[in-house]
Amino acid sequence: HHSYTTFDEILQFWASERPDATAFEQDGRITTYAQTDDLTRRLVTLFKDRGVANGDRIAWLGKNKDIYFLLYLTAARMGAVMVPIGWRLAPREIAYILEDTGAKLLFCGDEFVETAQTVSQDVPAKPQVIEAEAARREASQLPPASYDPPAADEPILQLYTSGTTGNPKGAVLSNANLLGLRNPGNEAGLDWNFYEDGDCMLIAMPCAHIGGTGLMNIAVANGIRSEVQGEFTPIGVLEAIENGATHMFIVPAALQMVVQHPRAADTDFSNLKYLMYGAAPMPLELLKEAVKTMPTTKFLQAYGMTETSGTISLLPPDDHSLEGNERMRSAGKAVPGVQIEVRDSNNNEVPRGEIGEVCIKSPSNTAGYWKLPEATASTIDDDGWLHTGDAGIMDADGYVYIQDRIKDMIISGGENVYPAEVENAIFGHPAIAEVAVIGIPSEKWGEEVKACVVCKAGAEIDEGEVIAYTRERIAAFKAPKSVDVIPEMPRNASGKILRRQLRDPYWQGQDRQVS
Ligand code: ATP
Ligand code: MG
Repeated sequence: HHSYTTFDEILQFWASERPDATAFEQDGRITTYAQTDDLTRRLVTLFKDRGVANGDRIAWLGKNKDIYFLLYLTAARMGAVMVPIGWRLAPREIAYILEDTGAKLLFCGDEFVETAQTVSQDVPAKPQVIEAEAARREASQLPPASYDPPAADEPILQLYTSGTTGNPKGAVLSNANLLGLRNPGNEAGLDWNFYEDGDCMLIAMPCAHIGGTGLMNIAVANGIRSEVQGEFTPIGVLEAIENGATHMFIVPAALQMVVQHPRAADTDFSNLKYLMYGAAPMPLELLKEAVKTMPTTKFLQAYGMTETSGTISLLPPDDHSLEGNERMRSAGKAVPGVQIEVRDSNNNEVPRGEIGEVCIKSPSNTAGYWKLPEATASTIDDDGWLHTGDAGIMDADGYVYIQDRIKDMIISGGENVYPAEVENAIFGHPAIAEVAVIGIPSEKWGEEVKACVVCKAGAEIDEGEVIAYTRERIAAFKAPKSVDVIPEMPRNASGKILRRQLRDPYWQGQDRQVS
């Protein structure tokens, strides 16, 4: 297999190897690898004409678009740094990222021109707003530039974390971070990284998340087609699969919408060879339902973070058999090239089977957060190990079980309760559509467990029923002491539940101790 260190090499390689193969397809518009190579060279000219130099930040505001990926690859070729901004963010949050990065150019989708202009006016650097299709047209008339591609360890992407536990942080990522593990043939034994002609990666997760841009990295590294969808819809996913999508990544909340969609029952899933899921805890009942719905698809659980350029452990398809399989709860084993250790608060590895903080050493790890030296220092230790903030257990065979975020752990009557385990137990209840578990202050217990549930349409449930149901499945001290039935689950743009938003009203004026 060929191996690369930069996107510049990749684009040259596939443009000569597979010039007419489709790199991107969106709403019927095709961009081949030859066109991708050619257009990104011309876009370098446009970037340079607009004053972009090596190391400068440029931003994107919009839904997923083929042109976004071309702009990102352009930045990667010439050594500028792409900053995709989630289109669901509020103007104040968009302004924060623009200000934080000092981006010179703000490319946007046509439906975001007005927002982009309004927001930019209040940002000191006054980024120049450019509608992306106009840039594409303009670039096609420009000559290709000559340029010095960046070294493998120079940054090309600044991706903000999802903001699940606090303010989003800008993880700075290089060519080497993004490609080091993604070369064809790595992640061997899992098949995921061996592609055949005609394979198609469905990109439905947002490009401002590693699940969107990171997936495109894998597709382009392997010279296959990316089917780009503006935003996730369950129907869009079902149709893409029937139309030939062979690989996709999806977060649990989105998978639930796909599997429970009325059209899912009549959908032929046989084109979909691999479904990779992750980014948040996967309820076991949902996973089983999905495996039954897509019997010929191979499932892979991915564990990773923005800071690790995406996947660093994978649970292989073989561990997804439906009967009596404890491993189905696992996030799998480190992919080749990655080291995972579970450590205690003194930074020593704990014995296998014991709980601690999941720590990662990997060529895909970020060098640090943008302009946050303290957060960087508390996340990456002197030996280069990245502390994930996730509690986990590693078994004797190297399988990792992610328990939950350490920050979300509940200490009730001296016992540690991981919300994800409780949520998993409650999730199977037929009346419950969504559930989040939080710790609230308690005079007796220090903290006590509360469940917040959203009922399925037309269904009802009372507190006693939820508590009784949970007690049948897990230890009594882990079961909720109280239940709030809420109309809607607060989630961020990556589909992750914002537990802190549910928790905050109960902690007004009180300090919540986080271990
Ligand atoms: P922030 O860091 O801003 O609070 P975030 O951690 O949600 O947001 P991401 O980088 O998108 O931002 O997510 C990484 C986190 O997602 C991991 O640290 C972990 O908590 C969770 N996660 C990822 N994959 C899995 C998985 N397979 N199972 C359980 N949790 C997962
Ligand atoms: Mg995080």
